[in-house]
Amino acid sequence: MAREVKIKGKPNDDRDREPSPAARDEAQSPPDPIEEKLRPQRLSEIIGQRAVAERLSIALAAAKKRGEPLPHILFDGPPGLGKTTFAGVLHNELGVELNLTSGASLDKKMDVMPYLTNASEGSILFIDEIHRLPRAVEEFIYPVMEDFRVDVVLGEGMSARTINLPLKKFTIIGATTRSGMLSSPLRERFHMHEHLEFYDPEDLARIITINAGKLRAPITPEAAWELAERSRGTPRIANARLRWVRDYALARADGGIDVPIARDALAMQEIDSEGMDKQDRRYLDTLIRVFKGGPTGAEALAATMTLSVDTIRDEVEPYLLRREFVVRTPRGRVATSAAYRHLGLAEPEREPVEDILDPQRRLFL
Ligand code: ADP
Repeated sequence: MAREVKIKGKPNDDRDREPSPAARDEAQSPPDPIEEKLRPQRLSEIIGQRAVAERLSIALAAAKKRGEPLPHILFDGPPGLGKTTFAGVLHNELGVELNLTSGASLDKKMDVMPYLTNASEGSILFIDEIHRLPRAVEEFIYPVMEDFRVDVVLGEGMSARTINLPLKKFTIIGATTRSGMLSSPLRERFHMHEHLEFYDPEDLARIITINAGKLRAPITPEAAWELAERSRGTPRIANARLRWVRDYALARADGGIDVPIARDALAMQEIDSEGMDKQDRRYLDTLIRVFKGGPTGAEALAATMTLSVDTIRDEVEPYLLRREFVVRTPRGRVATSAAYRHLGLAEPEREPVEDILDPQRRLFL
């Protein structure tokens, strides 16, 4: 990737903007070189998300033919599904500059200003966690997104005057795990909205096989499948588990990964047959034992588990909702029969879950 800028995060003062612990770690740590090696660089290397990739290839082709920047694009979906990867791929395909920042780091208008004034023609500005932009900064970038200009107020009181500063034409790519928290004026200024879905095991098995090759770790197709089924539908988790299994195979055997090696390595990390880790099981256990299966709110669960609500909402719940271990109802989260079965617990007599279902249960808050 070309020039990449990461700003360290400072918490903002308004809305629910405290970065999740994972986001904070990511913002403050240098990029992991192995993770970067595994990241697809071109559109042809992207696995899965076919509809998204196809729409982006159309946008790319049109932008190239017109000689104009890409339209502003908003990616949403749980962490680790490829939002940053897609931004990097678009930058590589166009051969333009890419600057990276995060909504949590842009406290004031002046924090975002250098990104705007330094943006070169056709370049890409990637704003991760864009739902964390403070309102004033958000409003400041509306004219940027519409007309490629910023309005700067000079002076104060009676003598204040606004000057319009023209900018180069460039693209803003926003990424969010909480599209519901985005204001509609901001959302509407993105010309393309792409929602990334969890990956099915076939796609994850392909990703694992390709990445095992990049890591020079021989893996059987059955072992790739075993890992794929136990990676919570998420490429980032698949990569992390592959790296662990590779180390385990080297330390305990000759480096080759087969099903018994993969199973032993995952068991050592307490990852179960559904790919759930200790935190997932603790969530279900808390919901079932402390809150009698629900309904209960994310805040109460977070407080009981001494985790941040963001971690619960962004990292733990989306996959459990998708697999229907949990459903969201107007009154809160409810554990399903599958959750009781998975933990080997007896399900009490209760109102059928279907009767209190929220039709929007699959949407992320
Ligand atoms: P996000 O920005 O949504 O949190 P990333 O783009 O950082 O997620 O993806 C995490 C990792 O998962 C990447 O480094 C890459 O190795 C892998 N990955 C993501 N999407 C894909 C994909 N479609 N095909 C192959 N690998 C992918």
